[in-house]
Amino acid sequence: MTQAELAEFVMANSTNARRRLLCVGGGTACRDTAIEDVIEVRLDKLNRVIDYPARDMTITVEAGIRMAELTRILNAENQRLPIDVPQAEQATLGGVIATNWSGPRRLGCGTMRDYVIGISAIDATGRRFSAGGRVVKNVAGYDICKLLVGSKGELAIISQVTLKLRPRPETSALVGLTFDSTRQVEAVLARLLNSATRPMAIEVVNPHATLNSLAEVQSKRFLVCVGYEGATHEVQWQVESLIAEAQPFEPRSAKSLFGSDAEPAWAELTDFVLSGALPSARSPLTFKASLPPSRTMEFLQLATAAGISAKAHAGNGIVLGHLPGNVTAAVQADAVLKPLSELVNSCNGSLTVLRSPLDWPIAPQVGGVTAGREWSERIQQQLDPLGLFRR
Ligand SMILES: Cc1cc2nc3c(=O)[nH]c(=O)nc-3n(C[C@H](O)[C@H](O)[C@H](O)COP(=O)(O)OP(=O)(O)OC[C@H]3O[C@@H](n4cnc5c(N)ncnc54)[C@H](O)[C@@H]3O)c2cc1C
Repeated sequence: MTQAELAEFVMANSTNARRRLLCVGGGTACRDTAIEDVIEVRLDKLNRVIDYPARDMTITVEAGIRMAELTRILNAENQRLPIDVPQAEQATLGGVIATNWSGPRRLGCGTMRDYVIGISAIDATGRRFSAGGRVVKNVAGYDICKLLVGSKGELAIISQVTLKLRPRPETSALVGLTFDSTRQVEAVLARLLNSATRPMAIEVVNPHATLNSLAEVQSKRFLVCVGYEGATHEVQWQVESLIAEAQPFEPRSAKSLFGSDAEPAWAELTDFVLSGALPSARSPLTFKASLPPSRTMEFLQLATAAGISAKAHAGNGIVLGHLPGNVTAAVQADAVLKPLSELVNSCNGSLTVLRSPLDWPIAPQVGGVTAGREWSERIQQQLDPLGLFRR
């Protein structure tokens, strides 16, 4: 399939059949969705590399390229796109952009919005449009790239993307520190705000979830994972400095992992959304909450009391949680989620259900930004007048 063929197909649909269209990249985020009477537009064959001027540290690719394949291509030039994606062998670049997914390195490296410098897309009438360019300095007009990042396939089909890249770091390290309470964790996080070090990631795992790579130190406590990347001597110095800074808070245990020894722990933190960190039974429901970083530990405390396995990107106020296996009905899930929903509502946050049984009547989202909704609807009306991308 080519981008021109895809545009023709969309145009034919908008003039003749007028069936709703559902973009599917790798399908990792939409496999449990039951949407009837739609045509699935599979994008994983739209996967060519258009241009890779490695010395400019940019790459232009079609949006259906798998994330693992993109990583292999960039590795050959010692470069990377520092966005952590679960199931990278399946997930596509377009899917990651459309969901604006991010993982542990979000704190130090940012999100897709920081890396997409050019984009081409097809609207619901089959019209092709593009924005940005292939060079880093190309600021002109409206920033359509940012509009499409996080648009969840409801505005247009992203067909081609130009990315800004970063060099691969020489090495990385993860320091695991354990504590008995969220109060102690909060005190350490406050200290980290004034740390002499520059963490790439600050993740807090609660006692109901276990990271296999750090299981021997975690032992049913709160685990704070602080990640560093850079030149070897720089990373070594930061790890030593962090351990010295954390000493006054008396962690129950500490462990540092360097280089290839740290890789499994980074992978476990990235894959947490797949419920890999659950000790036994599979979780019935997975959610993602966004709230101010200052309220994250309060949220984690409530989640822990409810038996939820949870992990927070503590520097960014994002929490991923898996309900315990003994929750077997929607009414039970509602009761468990109620205090968490009340907390996110009280601080203008949001809670999104990522995965749940299809027959559970659970609200997919609580809270969320309402400002600018009128503008969003007007943009959607322009790009998709017939509502063919709407859910
Ligand atoms: C709500 C949600 C649920 C998630 N659930 C899981 C999970 O259960 N397991 C897991 O491993 N990860 C999950 N993730 C993370 C997910 O793996 C990443 O976001 C991943 O990068 C998605 O890539 P994909 O190619 O598989 O996208 P897909 O699952 O194929 O699509 C994800 C979304 O992006 C849209 N989309 C895809 N490609 C394009 C395109 N080219 N243009 C426009 N829109 C497009 C789709 O319509 C859909 O709305 C979830 C993320 C979110 C936001």
